[in-house]
Amino acid sequence: MANVLFSNVRVMDGSGEYPFTGEVLVQGNRIRRVARGSRNLPTSGVTVIDGAGATLMPGMTEAHTHFSWNDQPSLDAIFRMPPEEHTLFAAVTAKTYLDSGFTSCVGAAAAKPRLDVVIRNAINSGQIPGPRYLANSQEIGTVGGLGDTAPPHVEHEGLSFACIVSGPEEMRRAVRRFIKYGVDLIKLNLSGEEIAGLGAEETPMDEDEIVAAVREAKKRGKRVCAHARSAESVKLCVEHGIEIIYHASFADEEALNLLDKHKDKHFVAPGLAWLIHTARDAAQWGIKPGSPMAIQYERELAAACETMKKMHKRGIRVLPGGDYGFAWIPHGTNAKDLEYFVSLLGFTPMEALLACTKLGGEIMGKPNELGQVKEGYLADLLLVDGDPLANIKILQEKSRLLAIMKDGEFHKWPDAQPGRMRMAG
Ligand SMILES: [Zn+2]
Repeated sequence: MANVLFSNVRVMDGSGEYPFTGEVLVQGNRIRRVARGSRNLPTSGVTVIDGAGATLMPGMTEAHTHFSWNDQPSLDAIFRMPPEEHTLFAAVTAKTYLDSGFTSCVGAAAAKPRLDVVIRNAINSGQIPGPRYLANSQEIGTVGGLGDTAPPHVEHEGLSFACIVSGPEEMRRAVRRFIKYGVDLIKLNLSGEEIAGLGAEETPMDEDEIVAAVREAKKRGKRVCAHARSAESVKLCVEHGIEIIYHASFADEEALNLLDKHKDKHFVAPGLAWLIHTARDAAQWGIKPGSPMAIQYERELAAACETMKKMHKRGIRVLPGGDYGFAWIPHGTNAKDLEYFVSLLGFTPMEALLACTKLGGEIMGKPNELGQVKEGYLADLLLVDGDPLANIKILQEKSRLLAIMKDGEFHKWPDAQPGRMRMAG
């Protein structure tokens, strides 16, 4: 690993402080020095990168990632991809996230039991490029709940998109099985989902099933996350210590109060892009704007925006990301979520950036070494052409990501362009 000095950069350090002109020295996989001004840090024996005024910021975190959603229009189409092709697809997708500036991703369920674990291990061993990744289980759902896609006349567990259980004993067995495979997280489908034919405000999973899952996961030091759109499901997440709450669109006052009281323990990722684009951009795949399905998603989008604004005001941690990997929200377009946080939820650009950097380090379980440009922190860095605080959309343009560094190594080297970027050393 080379020692690298980024000089002549505007440092957006992820602390919340306004960017400053400075220099950042990376040694090995850590940020060793952060200095204000220029020419304060030694340059001998290091590769010097003159950023020519570009922004240096922490790598971004995607809080709800499915490497194995294969840009298809339905759960069934994702499910039907054979394991060999599916593994390759997920490997290629992992690189797409890193190419897009996401140096960390929270796995939010795999389409096949071991897919996330295999990809995480391949990334960690250096076999394939990819972000830091928390591997998840398959979604665990109930008979007739979200993910039970098997036809009614063929009773066979292998025909469902999710791992389908009924009762605490089956739940316990499922969770133990995924832990045996090596997951970091367990995913529970608490509420419904309109596109799957089950109302978003329904909560089919029972409390005794949730208790069994959470107890088993915690016993083995695993974290739990949940698909939770209904008010009831959000309350169940807080009551049973499900740390990562996905969607939460219909959280009512009671749910918000509960969450508020325990906000240091929870993260919420609404997955706004899914709602927006399912309602408005999926006509080609049969969901025409104005159709009953699209109207349901518009209704949920309106509810989710109101709910997230309230959460943000209360200081509940709300993070961008979610459910990219469908035909109408393909992988690699994830930075749109930052734009939506600003335009729909009233986040300032700084707050949106902090939600995917500082809070990203927190949801990855490394609040003291990830998500900020700070001495001693892991060197996950982006060099951005322009100022994302002035225009948050530039993070959607891959050509603006001049350099991408993960764990002290360049995934994307900066091009040395005369007048723009100078490399020495
Ligand atoms: Zn999801």
